[in-house]
Amino acid sequence: MKTVLIGVGQAGGKLTQALLEFDKQMGFGAVLDAVGVNTAKADLQSLPYETVLIGQDRVNGHGVGGDNELGAEVMQADKTEVLSALEGSVTAKTESIFLVAGLGGGSGSGGTPVLAKELKRIYDIPVYVLGIVPGQNEGAMYQVNAGRSLKTIAREADAVLLVDNDAFRSSGESMSAGYEAINQAIAQRVGLLLASGEAVEGVGESVVDSSEIINTLRSGGIAALGYASAEASEVAEDNINAVMSTTRRAVLTGTSLQDASDADSALVVVAGKPDVIPRKGVERARRWVENETGSLEVRGGDFPLDSGRIAVLVLLAGVQRSDRVEAFMERARMAIEEAEAEAASREDPDDMWQNDDLDSLL
Ligand code: GDP
Repeated sequence: MKTVLIGVGQAGGKLTQALLEFDKQMGFGAVLDAVGVNTAKADLQSLPYETVLIGQDRVNGHGVGGDNELGAEVMQADKTEVLSALEGSVTAKTESIFLVAGLGGGSGSGGTPVLAKELKRIYDIPVYVLGIVPGQNEGAMYQVNAGRSLKTIAREADAVLLVDNDAFRSSGESMSAGYEAINQAIAQRVGLLLASGEAVEGVGESVVDSSEIINTLRSGGIAALGYASAEASEVAEDNINAVMSTTRRAVLTGTSLQDASDADSALVVVAGKPDVIPRKGVERARRWVENETGSLEVRGGDFPLDSGRIAVLVLLAGVQRSDRVEAFMERARMAIEEAEAEAASREDPDDMWQNDDLDSLL
């Protein structure tokens, strides 16, 4: 699927860079172009693609400090600059636009919903968001920001592909030390998904094309991406079990959003050397995904890739009712209530005396 990426905010910019590099290194050519947008000048300077600094009159290139309302205002005020930077990038060849952002911060969290809405008014192609959800141990501000942002994005964009920072973090690793590895993992998965719609014509009828990705995401809402791979045998028949077990791992333990296996629709892509991909295995895997997700709309296809391994990529769409998303939204709601209660007690002087921890002198 020929795509233009827009990295909004710090995390969005870095993940976009990882996606661009993966696509280039693999020679896929699915990522046509990228633009980075931020309120923080320093974060844009390291990005090796076109960038737009917004909100200079408000924050003077210093960022919005986690204030996503300010992030949204600034994007609203400077949207024309962003849209004109995109004019040369989005062409007749472009099949989708992906806005890439960390939803817990300020610029990406606030700016992405605003930009998604604008892009949808202008372009006829789907506008998707690749959104990063903060890990459970990130602070309340991140949870609140992400909850509010996600709610708005789910309404404005055609679909939101969610990635939980906790899903890819190695145990014991600090969040920031892990970013590089997390971005690599996401870039590989999303990069393969985009490229799978680019499979060479004429290779076989069973290859995936872009319209299948678009149709899978058509129901909108929240999507997740599962991935797993295994060593392949040179004989297709011998790979039936490998395809099945790899598919199970992709959905049950390898998704970008843990426990997201109730879906409205799904796409199962089996990547590997075409002559070792077992037809029977692919069909069985597709049926297993139907049962597991409770969806009657499960598409499937191959992605010819010159590799000694077989990889299975499962795009799950319409996963908003999953336990993980519910738990995350509940966390965001609680953080919002706590923040509001704290603000209220600051405003009411009587409350202030009642709620502090100091004992009265008399
Ligand atoms: P912004 O620049 O104001 O949009 O804020 P950030 O992009 O830094 O967003 C903060 C959120 O993104 C937090 O939840 C961070 O954990 C997460 N984050 C920051 N940098 C990265 C990164 O490089 N990769 C990933 N996966 N998450 C990141």
